[in-house]
Order: sequence, then C-alpha cells, then structure tokens
Amino acid sequence: MNIEQIFTNNQQWVQEKLKTNQDYFDNLSKGQSPEILYIGCSDSRVTAEDLMGVQPGDAFVHRNIANMVPNTDLSAMSVINYAVSHLKVNHIVVCGHYYCGGVKAAMQSADLGILNPWLRNIRDVYRLHQDELDAIQDTDKRYNRLVELNVQEQCVNVLKTADVQRAYRDRRLSVHGWVFDIRSGKLIDLKIDFTKILEGIMKIYHLD
Ligand SMILES: [Zn+2]
Repeated sequence: MNIEQIFTNNQQWVQEKLKTNQDYFDNLSKGQSPEILYIGCSDSRVTAEDLMGVQPGDAFVHRNIANMVPNTDLSAMSVINYAVSHLKVNHIVVCGHYYCGGVKAAMQSADLGILNPWLRNIRDVYRLHQDELDAIQDTDKRYNRLVELNVQEQCVNVLKTADVQRAYRDRRLSVHGWVFDIRSGKLIDLKIDFTKILEGIMKIYHLD
C-alpha cells in the first residue's frame, strides 16, 4: 500500500460527507454522546464501525489483542470508566471473532515473550472451562468455542467493575457478548444470560 494514498482517500471521504451534509464536521466537533461501548480485537479484519454499520459518533471503541478486559489493565479500565460514568453509554459490547490469532496462540505451547502475560489471561479462560473444551475433539470447533467462552469471561470482567455495577443498578446498562464470523461476515449474539451470571458472581464481586 502506498501510504500517500491514505491522504487521497481522506480527501475523498471529506468531500463525500460534505456532499450530504455541509455541517457534518462542524457537528462532529461539538461533542460525542455514543450509545455503545464496543470492546473488540485489534485484528485488521474486524473493523468495529464497518461490521456494525455505524457512523462516527455512534460507538466508543476499545480494541486490543483478543478483546481482553484484564482486571488490572489501566487502558481497558479507563475506557470503561469514561464510557460508562461520563459518556453514559447504555450498552457495552464485547465482540470476539472466529479465527482470532490471539486466541489460537494461547492454545499453543510457545514462549511468545511480552505476549505471554497478555495471552495468559486467555489460558486462564481455558482452565476455567477445561472440561467442556477438552471434550471437543475437533480442534477448530474447540478453538471457536474458546473464542466464545473468552467473550463470556471478558463480559464477566466488565461486570466486575464498580462503574458498570452502579450503571446496571441505576439505569439498567446492558452488557452483550457477540462473535464476528469472518468467514460469513455475520455478527452472532451469544445471548449470554448476564442476570444469571450476575446472581452467581455478585456475592463475590459486589462493590456498590
Ligand atoms: Zn483477534
């Protein structure tokens, strides 16, 4: 890719936006009030706005390798705090994807240097669900199931934060676990029952 092409693309995009609305960028500059916090993978094939069909201003986005929400990660925790307590989003989405390189790496025995502590969080998910995962004979199916279970566990991590617990109580903020299937382009709602999960874990994680 010619990096200069990016600036040509940008000029075209600006013209297209202004063609439909002369005040488009003026309006964008006034502020944001997104409805959704999207937490997804950094994978170049999983572009948040494109796959959801939303526009600038609609979603507050956080992406990292394998859509993780580690409890001590300052970046993820700051994003959740800002989105929930200041921007007052009504939905938090954790979106994983099949064929995730981060999840695949965590299923293999290899020393990956600085990635080790990050991927260890996914290995912890495997350990939590080891019986279910080990029972799946087909490697691809086991890998896809780990992608789904990782989404579920990262949603649980979202629910462990005080900001989210408060917003859940006060304004019924909702948390969603989704998977993007790269092969079909489809977005799948895992329909995780968070009320049930919350009941099970709140005794331990309750903060507010
Ligand atoms: Zn990924």
